[in-house]
Amino acid sequence: MRKNSHVRSILCVAIALAIFTMAAAAQSSATRAAGASGKGGGSATLGYTDTPLVPGQRWHVHDPARPYPPKVAPGVSRNDSPSDAIILFDGKDLAHWLPATQTMPTGVTIRSGSPAWKLGSGYMEIVPGTGDLATKEKFGDVQLHAEFALPTTPGVSRVDRGNSGIFLQGRYEVQIFDEWENPIYADGQIGAIYGQWPPLVNAGLKPGEWQSYDIVFDAPRMDGDRVLKPAWITVILNGVIVQNHTELLGPTVYRAAAKYIAQPAEDAIVLQNHNSPVRFRNIWARRLSSNDLPEKK
Ligand code: MG
Repeated sequence: MRKNSHVRSILCVAIALAIFTMAAAAQSSATRAAGASGKGGGSATLGYTDTPLVPGQRWHVHDPARPYPPKVAPGVSRNDSPSDAIILFDGKDLAHWLPATQTMPTGVTIRSGSPAWKLGSGYMEIVPGTGDLATKEKFGDVQLHAEFALPTTPGVSRVDRGNSGIFLQGRYEVQIFDEWENPIYADGQIGAIYGQWPPLVNAGLKPGEWQSYDIVFDAPRMDGDRVLKPAWITVILNGVIVQNHTELLGPTVYRAAAKYIAQPAEDAIVLQNHNSPVRFRNIWARRLSSNDLPEKK
């Protein structure tokens, strides 16, 4: 009995010690939390004015005066346009597009009149030999969504089987190409920055299947021919990232080394006509700018 009583005493001391340790830890955690939410200058919800400035910005850390970003309702599906998107093609008409000719590396010549591409049920289709399409609107930094389907027809030649592309600012091509059992050099594959960077992976689908591009393009900043900041691009193909904040080397060129040349700050988005009947649908864009900083130079 005496032995049992001794064991009980030891257990009681151990339990008391454990409770004390837990209480001390809780106290310490509460003290840290109070420190984190800080004394003075505001509350954790509304922010602080007694904090340092964020380096390079005019806002205090957790500044209560810093404007909130606008609220945007995302689309119901991953492809639906959000509420602030510029709808470039909704399957009904080509009102946002003009006939054009993309020329490497100088950019795009836009003509007046109506594009000669075919309108189908909810999509547009390239008509070979009728030239490229350019948006009426011009863009600098932009988020772009576009869906496309490669033709199931054989094509005039191997490179015309399913060949197109999206040129940001009429200059920087994100490649569209059917290399399904139709190989091409890596920097010409679907998801490539043509002639510069192969995609991280090949996430292309078969001809006839609808595919999607989601592109974030950070336009270059130029002073004449001098590059102040190169262009950057992030590309998601069919939900898979294929270009991760990739630095562009200059406007797209064929069989030549890319280099930057003078260009406007904003220019049209161009769909390439490479003489194969690629289809497009659901194209929308969002201009990108900070909601509380001056326009990037
Ligand atoms: Mg192309």
